[in-house]
Parts: sequence; C-alpha cells; structure tokens
Amino acid sequence: MDKSVLERVSMEFHCGLLRFLTSLASEKEPEPAFKFVGNVHGDEPVGRELLLRLANWICDNYIKDSLARLIVENIHLHILPSMNPDGYFLRRRGNANNIDLNRDFPDQFFPVNNDINARQPETRAVMNWLREMQFAASASLHGGALVANYPWDGTEDKRRNYYACPDDDTFRFMASIYSHSHHNMSLSKEFPGGITNGALWYPIYGGMQDWNYIHAGCFELTLEISDNKWPNANEIPTLWEYNKMSLLNLAASLVKTGIHGRIFSSDSGMPLPGSVMIKGINYTVKAGKGFADYHRLLAPGERYEVVATMPGYKPKTTRISLDEAAMTLDFILDPEVTTKGSLRSINDCRCESNCGLEFFWRVHSQPF
Ligand SMILES: [Zn+2]
Repeated sequence: MDKSVLERVSMEFHCGLLRFLTSLASEKEPEPAFKFVGNVHGDEPVGRELLLRLANWICDNYIKDSLARLIVENIHLHILPSMNPDGYFLRRRGNANNIDLNRDFPDQFFPVNNDINARQPETRAVMNWLREMQFAASASLHGGALVANYPWDGTEDKRRNYYACPDDDTFRFMASIYSHSHHNMSLSKEFPGGITNGALWYPIYGGMQDWNYIHAGCFELTLEISDNKWPNANEIPTLWEYNKMSLLNLAASLVKTGIHGRIFSSDSGMPLPGSVMIKGINYTVKAGKGFADYHRLLAPGERYEVVATMPGYKPKTTRISLDEAAMTLDFILDPEVTTKGSLRSINDCRCESNCGLEFFWRVHSQPF
C-alpha cells in the first residue's frame, strides 16, 4: 500500500467500538467530516460488511480512482462498521442489555431522560464522539428494507404523518443521491424515488438520526440497504456492488454540493467561529472552532440568502444562486462599534503559543 495512503488511514478501538478512520481524523484542516455507522441493530449485519469493504475499496483505489481521491483529500471520512458488536454476536436487534440503540437517544418530543449517563454505553460513546468531533453529515446503515430515510423520524402527536424538518428539501436531495446511485432503490414501488420521510413510514422516538440533526449539527440519513437482514455470505459482493456508488456519492456530495467557506474578522483578519443561517430555514450551522470553516448542505437550483453571524460583530448577508456544484462563500465581518466609539473584537487570538489559528484573507464566490 502506498505510504501516503497508510498515513491517511488509522484504526482505533474506543469503548469496544471499532472505528476505522479512512482519513487522518486528527489532522487539522478546514475540511468537512462525514461518518458512516453500521450495525446499529445487531441483527442487521449487511451494513457492517459493506462499510469494511468501503474502507478497503477507498484504500485500494485512492491512487487510480478520482472519486476515492476526492473523498480522501477533501473529507474527513469516519467509518464505524459496528455500533452494536454485542448484539451482532448475539444475533439480535438490541445490545447486551437488549436495548434498541436506535430508540436510546434523547428525543425532541418526549424527553424521558436526557441525562447522558442514563444512556447505553454504545449510545453514550456516539454522543461523546459527536461532542469531540464536528460532523457535517452522516448516514447509519440498516437492513430489512430498501429505502433512504430522512428526518423527522417522529411526530409530536405520535401519528404517522409526513413531518418535515426545517431542511426537508436538502434531506430529500441527499436521500435521492443515495437512492439514484443505487442499483434499484429508486425504482421502489413502496417508496417513490426510493426515499421516505421517517415519520411518514413509521414514527420512532429516541432515534439517532434526529438527534444528530438537532444536537450535533449533523445531517444524518438512515439507510435501509437490503430487504434481507441475513443474506448468505456469497450475496455480499452483489450487495456491495449495488450500494458502492451510493456510499461514495453520498460522502462526496458533502464537498461537491452546498456552500462552504470561512468567517473572518475585518479588523484582525482572524478566523471567527461564528454561525451561518439561511433565511427562511430555521437551522444554524456552526463554523469550526480552529479554522472557522463552515459546510452548509443545501438543495441545488435555488436562490438563498446566507447570513453569517458572530457575537460582537455585525451580521453579513449574501444572496446567492446555488446550482448543482458546490459554492465557496467566505465572510468578513466588521466588529460592532461600542458606545465609546472604539472597535470591539471579542475573538482575537491573544495566546502567545501557536493556537492553530491563522491569518487567511480571501473573498471569492466560485464553483467548487
Ligand atoms: Zn435497523
């Protein structure tokens, strides 16, 4: 294996969970992060198998395949093949305590117990992982159906209805990337286009998908990748071929679509870890702490007003027309003027050591 590839791939064990990092996760870069999580349900092992193949395929094809190279060089891709290894060995849905991990996350409508310590160890590990690492998007892999499922997963009144989240258009776009790249998911007779709103299919509460979007700033899909939960081992290569382009295209869409940029202070030039909002969409994307980079997935073919904010600075709005390609859009914010008339910049780096912040000036808006 090429040395540079080896340098970009690391493996680590964390709380009994096997996490493959197909890019060097600790590397500090203004890049978005994407994660795949498999085997949430112990009796749905196909995702686990496909994610191991995905990690191997990317390593094997990094040199010769442009999509593999794009992912490795532009995205921090994390692959967790099994979130529920105990359930896998017991060949059952729940974990060792027989708890369904996809009902164990804090819920927006029914907060029975939001104490992280009351969660199962696997749930807690994922929640802590997302506190340490900022992911822009992700997908968990399930079995027993063939459809790409998007938020919301639950309704407030527990009825089975289409229950749209603020980013419904964007999620439909993401889910369609998966279904249309798949061998036959988009041809589904049960689900038009091979996608579904979770609550329209069947409402669930305590799911990982909605928690990611609400609490972790992460656009997560729930992918049902095989009608048969336990296919024969000799069917795995075919299932891999059916899902390969979907997995690759979904991850790559994180940099091939949407709006990406950084936020800076006009007086100091320092990166500002502010926020970005789209007018008319009640959702905030936070810029990273180190580089102040933000990555905002959005449905293409629309006009948007993008607003960058940072406490102590004047908000700035830019109108854009987003097509299929990604757009780079940086913001330079002016400090608010205090009553004394002096400029105030609350986020200037004053530490004497190298804190990872850098001066970086650029203003442009162009296709990625
Ligand atoms: Zn499942």
